[in-house]
Amino acid sequence: MAASREKYEELIKELSASGTTLVAVSKTKPPEDVLELYNLGQRDFGENYVQELIDKHSKLPTDIRWHFIGHLQSNKVKFIAPFVHLIHGVDTLKLMREINKQGAKISRVIPVLLQVHIASEETKFGFDETELNEALSHIDELLNISIEGLMGMASFTDDQQKVRHEFISLKKLFDQSRQLISSDDRKKKFRILSMGMSSDYKIAIEEGSNLVRIGSILFGARS
Ligand SMILES: *Cc1c(COP(=O)(O)O)cnc(C)c1O
Repeated sequence: MAASREKYEELIKELSASGTTLVAVSKTKPPEDVLELYNLGQRDFGENYVQELIDKHSKLPTDIRWHFIGHLQSNKVKFIAPFVHLIHGVDTLKLMREINKQGAKISRVIPVLLQVHIASEETKFGFDETELNEALSHIDELLNISIEGLMGMASFTDDQQKVRHEFISLKKLFDQSRQLISSDDRKKKFRILSMGMSSDYKIAIEEGSNLVRIGSILFGARS
């Protein structure tokens, strides 16, 4: 099989000890690989590209929870709005408004995470602290999105201390943001901290992550 049963079972055991949710990142991998993990019990899968997500959604079991973890363009929101389980990479107020609009059209409240820029690389997407606070100040107007937490990616580096400090800064923002939310109902929903990938998930969990997005450990390297 293309997905590794052994790695999967090992990982599930490790993550369940800390109550961490696993999103299996299946981007670029064929539907058969997804099905292999599905048959082992995995239900949360993450994809980066809208077209690929739509294709897999149409071919695979309907109880899969599809996470969109890539950079989402506003004009593509409508294609995934009806079925996406959680959109992780929401990084502008404009995108929040578009998701809200598409949710309203189909009478759905769409769950999202706000992406925060924690890495030092300039190319990575995400809000900075000021922009995040500004975005959060609009949540009461956006009735068709549910802001369930934050997502971030650490720098691509072997420097583990640097990665750890970036995760610590995201956890701090997560706690601060939660404090800023005045409605008890919305505060309760704001509970997901999506941080950690194959190379850094252990550090992420130590620093407060409760959802990790892991691809290459499970499916092998992407070509
Ligand atoms: C590809 C991707 C992952 C998974 O990366 P791996 O290193 O294969 O675990 C996680 N998060 C995001 C946002 C990604 O694009």
